[in-house]
Amino acid sequence: MIKEIVGKNRFIRKIAERRGMIEYDGAACVFCGKCARQCKMEAITVSPKERKLRLDHGRCVRCGQCVKICPKTALTLSCNPSQTVI
Ligand code: SF4
Ligand code: SF4
Repeated sequence: MIKEIVGKNRFIRKIAERRGMIEYDGAACVFCGKCARQCKMEAITVSPKERKLRLDHGRCVRCGQCVKICPKTALTLSCNPSQTVI
């Protein structure tokens, strides 16, 4: 499952396995862009016009800030939230 989402990069996979990963619910998202503006790592790109959200798992440090700010609960941090740095 993790491999399917983050790809073959072993380093990113290790982080995802240890610290969890951001999961995105496209059906709930309203493409407001709040998560992208909140992300200090510039890991999220939102295009309201195309109704698309792109999350770069390689940049994401699993801080959970995007999860906190999303008004639609479209983002969640899987696995072990106790290990997140907020
Ligand atoms: S904050 Fe939530 S609703 Fe807004 S673009 Fe991000 S995921 Fe979608
Ligand atoms: S968890 Fe943090 S680094 Fe990752 S996409 Fe959300 S705000 Fe950006």
